[in-house]
Amino acid sequence: MKDNNLNKDYDIIILGCGPAGLQAAMHAARKKCTVLVLGRPERSSLYKAHIENYCCVSGKRSGKELLEIGMEQARGFGVDFLHEDAVKTESLENGGFGVETESRHLTCLSLIIATGVSRKGLGLKGEKDLVGKGISYCVDCDANFYRGATVAVFGNGSAAVHGALTLNDIASKVYLITTGLNISPELKNSLEKSSVEVFSGRKIKGLVSDKTLKAITLDDGTTLEVDGLFIELGAKGAMELAAFLGVELDPERFTHIMTDKNQATNIPGIFAAGDICGLPYQMAKAVGEGCIAGISAGSYCQKLKREAAKN
Ligand SMILES: Cc1cc2nc3c(=O)[nH]c(=O)nc-3n(C[C@H](O)[C@H](O)[C@H](O)COP(=O)(O)OP(=O)(O)OC[C@H]3O[C@@H](n4cnc5c(N)ncnc54)[C@H](O)[C@@H]3O)c2cc1C
Repeated sequence: MKDNNLNKDYDIIILGCGPAGLQAAMHAARKKCTVLVLGRPERSSLYKAHIENYCCVSGKRSGKELLEIGMEQARGFGVDFLHEDAVKTESLENGGFGVETESRHLTCLSLIIATGVSRKGLGLKGEKDLVGKGISYCVDCDANFYRGATVAVFGNGSAAVHGALTLNDIASKVYLITTGLNISPELKNSLEKSSVEVFSGRKIKGLVSDKTLKAITLDDGTTLEVDGLFIELGAKGAMELAAFLGVELDPERFTHIMTDKNQATNIPGIFAAGDICGLPYQMAKAVGEGCIAGISAGSYCQKLKREAAKN
């Protein structure tokens, strides 16, 4: 390379070791780019999930297993991994980007942000251990596992009410626990017409379990026997890194990154994919967007190199 500005540690650094990051890595590496994936597979939303709605993969597959296969595939295409978080990102004066991880400072020509979303929990005793065993943060993902079952939803906003109404068509009994609903009159009307039983002005105080969730207790002493509890408090993206780079976020809630159909953000050279780009939080979408982001970032790097070679 003639241009020193193109001499970086990697052509592409991908923030995120979930399905979006892994698929992006494979496509970028196949475009003859050097690629590093940062992040921890065990922090991917997929890690504790069981997937049965991903095209061409039949049965109920463990997310952990799928991630291991994905990493192995990516390694086969020459992708490097560093299981650390990015703690700081910056645009470099001579072009490209700097990424500070927990142990080192790295540079790249292009960045792909695929950090997923961190689902807010209630912080109840045993909550984390029961994820996938009765506790879920995603009605769209897990509702079908509760066909004919008794479930509760906790939340105050439209996500919780939509979730309860969706579950009402699938489960045999749905409770909605809320400290106070903040929803549109239309949604309130739909809720009132449904058979969802609402416990208003209540908090969940505890979880009763025996390997799987058996019941929840409320702050007024009520115990509700349930097979599932959906905590629908919305999702908070790891946006600080993106915001620091000047990446445009969704203007209403600042919880997702805005991209075009090439998964490009408003900052040249920065692409994004997966849950961090918005709903639906589904593996199929994450993989599809990862594919596009990987190809787009690969083309971006190739173009930079072609232009540098001409000068
Ligand atoms: C319980 C559960 C059940 C689900 N069931 C289904 C289902 O049945 N079907 C379906 O399609 N989807 C399901 N999903 C959703 C699916 O898992 C997600 O849509 C998918 O994992 C999103 O992929 P992603 O790559 O965007 O993000 P994630 O998989 O969440 O990966 C994010 C990655 O970013 C990394 N990261 C975060 N911050 C940083 C940082 N600062 N620096 C570097 N790396 C960082 C994390 O370590 C992680 O590796 C489920 C999710 C959950 C939680």
